[in-house]
Amino acid sequence: MISKRSIERVFETAKVEDVVGNFVSLKRRGVNFIGLCPFHNEKTPSFTVSPSKNIFKCFGCGKGGNSVNFVMEHEGYSYIEAIKFIAQMYNIELEEIQMSDEQKETQEKRDSLFVVNEWAKKRFSDNLFKTQQGTNIGLAYFKERGFRESIIKKFDLGFAIDDSKDLTNAAARDGFKAEFLKELGLISKNDYDFFRNRVMFTIHNLTGKAIGFAGRIMGNNPKLPKYINSPESEIYNKRKILYGLYFAKNEIRKLDYCILVEGYTDVLSLFQAGIENVVASSGTSLTSDQVRLIKRYTNTIKILYDGDAAGINAAMRGMDLILAENIMVKLVILPENHDPDSFMKEVGPSEFLKFIEENEKDFILYKTQLLLKETSGDPVKRAYILKDIVATLAKVGDPLIRSMYVKECSNLLDIDEKIIVSETNKIIKKEIRDKAYKRQRENISDASMEVVDEVGKRSAPSQSLLARSDEYQERAVTKVLMEKGHLYFDEEEQLLVADFIIMNIMDTLSYFENKAYKRVIELTIKERERGNIPDQLFYSNNDDSEVRKMYVELVMNPYDYADWSSRGMELQTQKPPEKNQVEETKQAVMRLNYKKLNKIIKENNKKMSEQETNSEEFIMLMRLHQKLLEEKKKMALQLSIVIQ
Ligand SMILES: [Zn+2]
Repeated sequence: MISKRSIERVFETAKVEDVVGNFVSLKRRGVNFIGLCPFHNEKTPSFTVSPSKNIFKCFGCGKGGNSVNFVMEHEGYSYIEAIKFIAQMYNIELEEIQMSDEQKETQEKRDSLFVVNEWAKKRFSDNLFKTQQGTNIGLAYFKERGFRESIIKKFDLGFAIDDSKDLTNAAARDGFKAEFLKELGLISKNDYDFFRNRVMFTIHNLTGKAIGFAGRIMGNNPKLPKYINSPESEIYNKRKILYGLYFAKNEIRKLDYCILVEGYTDVLSLFQAGIENVVASSGTSLTSDQVRLIKRYTNTIKILYDGDAAGINAAMRGMDLILAENIMVKLVILPENHDPDSFMKEVGPSEFLKFIEENEKDFILYKTQLLLKETSGDPVKRAYILKDIVATLAKVGDPLIRSMYVKECSNLLDIDEKIIVSETNKIIKKEIRDKAYKRQRENISDASMEVVDEVGKRSAPSQSLLARSDEYQERAVTKVLMEKGHLYFDEEEQLLVADFIIMNIMDTLSYFENKAYKRVIELTIKERERGNIPDQLFYSNNDDSEVRKMYVELVMNPYDYADWSSRGMELQTQKPPEKNQVEETKQAVMRLNYKKLNKIIKENNKKMSEQETNSEEFIMLMRLHQKLLEEKKKMALQLSIVIQ
């Protein structure tokens, strides 16, 4: 395991603009950098990198975080892999330390699964090249399909011997535990080989490690399935893997589109012909997770269908899901009786690419045409089509693209554009309403911050929401704490902004409505008690993922990335906002306490109403009531001075 100290060094050294700059071309804008977001499709940059805060944030899709988060998301790395990547970038040597037994066990198990798979991969490969059965059957099959040895080796193809104990015995001989092989599905519960008499395809993860296998049966046994796959395991999740992506990712990024085929051999065949931006969904129909994987590299998928695919219609119905990911989907139907593999063999790479270019059809328009063909003029059926198409159109996120589709669909269906627009809008509005309602129920905090932020630049708050929520004030205090807690509130007294906040809201902390803000403050108190200064790294790299997320949410604000320094005149007479920490802190704390005081007064009133009017308790509560009112008056006065 890497030592905490090393990891801290990586975080301290990593400059977010360097790390992100490896993958995104960034332009300076004021104190920040901006660029086109690599996680969603955009034409004007809303992806912002803040060197001073050392984080990135996209105001289009909402993704944000520190350098490590960026590398994890962009490259599909684990946390440790991302740390290693950045360490390498800066030539930081990572110190390894001992793990706890429990950590060791989990880590060791994962490592073991990778080691066993790696071993099995080699075994299958040796079978293919070094055994008689392998060369006569497996290698002969691959050669007959036209695959060269270089591609066979690159993709780690192999062969499983026709023997129910081959792998099982070899594993025992080489000292591998049967339980790991069972977990990976390489051998059955009763200790028999799972793959027998099959040519083997290794499935790699994004870093090139073997995480599973697929085997194609040799010979003609109609009782056996043509292809079988490793079951899912701790290291293999079918829905999140695309066959070939490890080899294809660079080319996909370079050419800015991804070709999606169905079979393993289709990928190999195209790759061998020099078309390297190709992946297969292998077995499953395309999932949203897989689309998101592709979206890391491009926003365009071209799906190749066999010319005689019967299931194309059904397959297409599931694709509305994909449109919701805001990705451009094009379909290419290959000539009849061809799959990508056979078609490539017949026409060669340049004709193949030309065919794609000339025959690619937009998914939505294709769907419309296909449905139209099905109805053959039946007016009732046509009404159903409209419903179906409109549901699809509503999924298209970009309004410009959507209006283009509406126009074309209106032509195809011979239905007035206005009708299509109004039907589509009905669905979109309903979805927005449903979403807003859900959000409001789940998380009042989000709704209330939408509301009052940044001097009325956003839409006005819903009064009812504000009236019943103190979250705006809680949020403001938490934001100042995260952003400026490490700065001095009073330098002479060595008092930090964090200290001032902690001292002044101790009494009201138990009244916090938003548990997450409360948690941030409690963690800060602990950090101060330990004698540490809660700086930005403390929040942006906190062990608590909620805290990390909140840091990005609160600290990166769409309105502070406007170029402060270019406001020229103002700058000479007015301190930039970073320097105003004292006033800002005071204001935030006072506003929060004022709000909470009202709550305490209300509570006290309620208690009074429950007492006999001349009981001792009542008189005590009454005195308290008066004190609270005085306090309120004083605060209101101070606040009005602050607010002006
Ligand atoms: Zn984005």
